[in-house]
Amino acid sequence: MNAPASTTAATTRLGLAAAAALLAGCSIPIVSETELATESGRQFEEMRGSTPLSRDASLRRYINCVTDAIVAQLPEPYVSQDWTVEVFDEPDTINAFAMAGARVGIYSGLLKVAENQDQLAAVIGHEIAHVTEKHSLERINREMTTQAGVIGVNAALGGNRATAQVLQMGAQVGLSLPFSRGNETEADVVGLQFMAAAGFNPRESIALWQNMGKASKVGPPQFLSTHPSGDSRIQDLIKQLPAALKLYNEAQAAGRKPNCKR
Ligand SMILES: [Zn+2]
Repeated sequence: MNAPASTTAATTRLGLAAAAALLAGCSIPIVSETELATESGRQFEEMRGSTPLSRDASLRRYINCVTDAIVAQLPEPYVSQDWTVEVFDEPDTINAFAMAGARVGIYSGLLKVAENQDQLAAVIGHEIAHVTEKHSLERINREMTTQAGVIGVNAALGGNRATAQVLQMGAQVGLSLPFSRGNETEADVVGLQFMAAAGFNPRESIALWQNMGKASKVGPPQFLSTHPSGDSRIQDLIKQLPAALKLYNEAQAAGRKPNCKR
């Protein structure tokens, strides 16, 4: 997603912590999942304060219905967390995200490409998989390491300049960074398992990515700027379908048949 202004403040705090540790002669600090969850929580609340929220009760119910069904299939500790879903009223923003600390954000524009509950489940499953596979955590720590290296060089030149450098780069950390292709593939595979186990039709994930591709011809969905897609994404999903369909059939047989409607 595009970095909201609030991302800057929250990630700068993390960046300053890295700088402080480095200037104090410590090794490169590692952000823990708990620290990331706390920072994410701050960011999430800031976004809720600065972005229009949807007042469409049926839309909110629909998105919560899909999310709840997926969350019920997550491994521990995620299944036991109290997930918060926010729906942002931005019809031109095709985007969605999940954060450490059990938070999901959906922009109303996503519903232009996610045409039914199963396609919406494909997006939400994919986003939550980035959290359960700790991709956000890896991403922020990778960026911290890069920053710390630059800070180290600048620290030799003078503390103030080093701090200024961190402030500048802190803005680039966090939600604005794209995931790697490897992370994308993993989120596709794991997300497909989550949605199928919840009883959503995994075949619809292919339609979803086709819709995303069509939308990108008009103007790239914001989603694609942080979720880089290779040409092989759909082919890879097709390869995963037999395993996902097995989970889907088991879910249906067990009575997990979500019926989320707007
Ligand atoms: Zn992704």
